[in-house]
Amino acid sequence: MKLIEDITKIKKFESVISNKKHVLIVSHLNPDGDAVGAVLGLYYYLSDLGIDVDVILPTSFPQNVAFLDIKKEIIIYEKEVGKSEEIIKTADLLFCLDCNSLSRTGAMSELLLNKECTKIIIDHHIATNKKEFDLVFTNIKASSACELLFYLLMDTERVNSDVMNINKKSALALAVGLLTDTNNFSNSTTALTYNMASLLTKRGIDFMNLNEVLFKSNPIRRLKLMGEMLSDKLVIMEKEQAAYMILTKEIKDKFGFMPGDTEGFVNLPLTLEKIRISAFFTESDDYIRVSLRCKSGFSVNDLSRKYFNGGGHEKAAGGRLDMKIDEVPEYFENSLKKFLKEKQD
Ligand code: 5GP
Ligand code: MN
Repeated sequence: MKLIEDITKIKKFESVISNKKHVLIVSHLNPDGDAVGAVLGLYYYLSDLGIDVDVILPTSFPQNVAFLDIKKEIIIYEKEVGKSEEIIKTADLLFCLDCNSLSRTGAMSELLLNKECTKIIIDHHIATNKKEFDLVFTNIKASSACELLFYLLMDTERVNSDVMNINKKSALALAVGLLTDTNNFSNSTTALTYNMASLLTKRGIDFMNLNEVLFKSNPIRRLKLMGEMLSDKLVIMEKEQAAYMILTKEIKDKFGFMPGDTEGFVNLPLTLEKIRISAFFTESDDYIRVSLRCKSGFSVNDLSRKYFNGGGHEKAAGGRLDMKIDEVPEYFENSLKKFLKEKQD
């Protein structure tokens, strides 16, 4: 299996980057490890070619991947609106990574959608908004955007199937996306995923060390918050084989919540034998973030598209709700029951 079949597209990618003066790389709202890994993986690759590159993310990213941003190159749009808008104006090539539409880039989405320049997407989600882009690299079989980007770079003339040509900083960033999006190789993996890990290991990436850095370096507040959520906030819907938890602003304040603190919490109920669907809701000032996960035989992507204003992958999806936090239990329970009934009919 190959993730990118069309060689003409790879040629086009090569010729486009060699002709551009100022490249801008963006990703989705609430960027995760894959988003950060992909934007920095590409950033270090293009910078090495002597290209002027900027990276703008709509909002802050998790602390446990901040070590990748060695020189603090990533600009956070909501913190530096003026500077970001100047950069957006002058860029002549835009990359959208780990994100199926520019509309998922939050407050800067209008500017990016209206901007006239060459636009390239590299993503692994369902329902890519292809009309927004001049060049589309998308494959839902890729475990992560980092995996797809890795094989795209490997296919270019410059790398030419010799992983040693991928610079070390780029390789490290791509490894982080691979590890975080597969939840440490526990989901969405294929032979290509392990092949990438093998090639990156040859390139000098220490996966055992990365495992410690990413999954075994948590602050104590995260563990305490996890304890509170599991002991006090876990709701089980026995008949539906589902479970959900709601993180309110009140609990966030109590534990000094920081972005990334609840990464992976949505997976915890799925460790139970009888639970097949899990949901995690996070209250913020503007809306409620929804995170959905499931075991085989179900699609949270469909559930999210239908009832939670979002999407994602079959087994991992997200979305948002605009309602009061105390309305969430009833809304979730009713939506899930309706969805399961519709599936049955
Ligand atoms: P998470 O629960 O980790 O935030 O998201 C799980 C998956 O669903 C990710 O692959 C993410 O890109 C996707 N996703 C999260 N939120 C949204 C959303 O609002 N819209 C869409 N289309 N996908 C989302
Ligand atoms: Mn991803």
